[in-house]
Amino acid sequence: MEKLDYTQINPRGRKVKILATTGPASREPEMLRKLFKAGVDAFRVNMSHGDHATHAQTIASIRALEKEFLRPIAIFCDLQGPKLRVGTFKDGKAVIRHSGHFTLDRNPEPGDETRVELPHPELFGLLEKGQRLLINDGKIRLRVISADDDKILCSAEVGGVISDRKGVNVPDAEIPIPAMTEKDRKDLAFAVEQGADWIGLSFVQRPEDLAEARRLMGGKGALCAKIEKPMAVRRLDEIIEMSDGVMVARGDLGVELEPQEVPPLQKRIVNKTRLMGKPVIVATQMLESMIESPAPTRAEVSDVANAVYDGADAVMLSAETAAGDWPEEAVTIMDKIAVQVEQDEAYLERVRMLDTPADPTTADALSHACMTIADTVPISAITVFTGSGSTARRVARERPSVPMLVLTPSMRTARRLALLWGTHAVATKDIGSFEEMIAKGKRMALRHGFGKAGSKMIALAGVPFGTPGSTNLLHVVTLVGDELDRHEGA
Ligand code: PGA
Ligand code: MN
Repeated sequence: MEKLDYTQINPRGRKVKILATTGPASREPEMLRKLFKAGVDAFRVNMSHGDHATHAQTIASIRALEKEFLRPIAIFCDLQGPKLRVGTFKDGKAVIRHSGHFTLDRNPEPGDETRVELPHPELFGLLEKGQRLLINDGKIRLRVISADDDKILCSAEVGGVISDRKGVNVPDAEIPIPAMTEKDRKDLAFAVEQGADWIGLSFVQRPEDLAEARRLMGGKGALCAKIEKPMAVRRLDEIIEMSDGVMVARGDLGVELEPQEVPPLQKRIVNKTRLMGKPVIVATQMLESMIESPAPTRAEVSDVANAVYDGADAVMLSAETAAGDWPEEAVTIMDKIAVQVEQDEAYLERVRMLDTPADPTTADALSHACMTIADTVPISAITVFTGSGSTARRVARERPSVPMLVLTPSMRTARRLALLWGTHAVATKDIGSFEEMIAKGKRMALRHGFGKAGSKMIALAGVPFGTPGSTNLLHVVTLVGDELDRHEGA
C-alpha cells in the first residue's frame, strides 16, 4: 500500500474546525473526498431532508474516507425537531395581502388567500392577541387579532406569497409540545444505529427537552443543543449544562428574534459555552452567497473571521455545501479565512479576552499549566492521553497557543473531538506504562507532523491509565529524530 503522508492533512494548520452539511450537492463519495481534503473536520447529515437509505449511504461514504485517510471524522445527525408548518392550498399557493386579514384554522380543506389549516392543535387556545406568527423564514409576518379554540384571526403586517407546508415560527409563546416529534424519534433511533457521533436537537426550549433526547440516546453519541428559540435563550445556562455542545443556530434564531439581536447573542452563547469547556458551533448563512457564486461577499468573509476571533470551536456550512453550486470552493475559502485569522498576532489575545478561570481541580491546574508553558518556552504540541476526552476539553478551554495531539483508545472519543477547538485526535491502542506513554507520544507527534527532531512537547495524562478524572501528570519531553523510523510499525 502507498505510504500515507500524514502531514498533508495533519494537522490542519488551524484550530477552529469546519462542519459541513451534506446533501444533493455533496453526498457522492468523490465530492465528500474533495470537501474533506479541502478542510472539513465533521459532516452534518440533516434529517429534515432526504430518507434513511440515502443518509445511510452518505454515512458509509464518510466512514470510508476516514479509513482512507486514517483520520477520525465526526458525523453530526441533525434532527428536524418540532418545526411548525401550515397546511396546503387549492393552487399550491396563495397571496396574502399587505394589511389584510388572514385566518389559521383546523379545517383540513385546502386554503386560499383568506385562510389555511394550521395542523398543530397545541397552538389553538394558546396564542393571544398581539403575538406574532412568522411564515416562510419570517418573510410573511402576521399578528394575532383574536384567537379561540378553532381559529386564529390575524392581520398581515407583511403579506406575500404563501405556499404548501411553509414553516411557521411563533416566537412569543412557549409551545407545550415535546422537543421531539414521532419523526425525530425514528430519526434518532436511525442515527444511533448508524453510530452518529453527535446528535443535534432543534428548537430546544427547556432543559427537559435535552433530558428526553439523552434518555433515547442510551449513552451513545454526544448531544448538541441548537439555540434557535427565545425560550432557550432565557434558560441558556441550564441548557448548556445539560448538553455536550451547543450550536448558535442563527437561521431560525434571526427569525424568532430580531436579526440585530443575533450578533450580541452569538457572542454570549459562545462565551458561556466556552466557559463550561464544551464545543460551540457558529452556524448558518456564513457564506450564503456562495450557494450561487464562486466568491463570497466581503461581509461574509468578515462574519466567518469574527466567529473565529470569538474563539468558537467550529464554523458551519449549510446550503453552501448541501445544495449549492460551489461546495468545494466554500470549504476552501472558509479554511483560508480561518488560517489567516489564526496567523494574526492579535488572534490569541482576542480569543483570551474571555477569562476562563480554572476550577479547583488537578486537571484544570495542569491544563492551565500547559497553556502557560506553551506561552513561555517553544513547544510544538501538547499531547494529551485521554479516554473520555474530558482532559482534552479542559486543555482546549484554556485556548493554548500550540495544537493538541489527542491520543485515545476510544474511536468514539476521537471522532467526537473533531468538533473541539485546537485538537487532532488519533485512536491508538491502550497504553500500559509511563515509559510506553512517553515513547508513543513522541512517535505519534513526529508521525503526524506535530514536531521535528529537537522540538519540545508537553505530555499530559492521568495515571493509573484508564481511570477517568485522574489527570495528574505533566511531562515536558524533547523529540528525537530517529524515533519515527526505529518504532515504525510498532
Ligand atoms: P437548520 O438549523 O438549518 O436545521 O434550520 C440551523 C439554523 O436554524 O440556523
Ligand atoms: Mn434551525
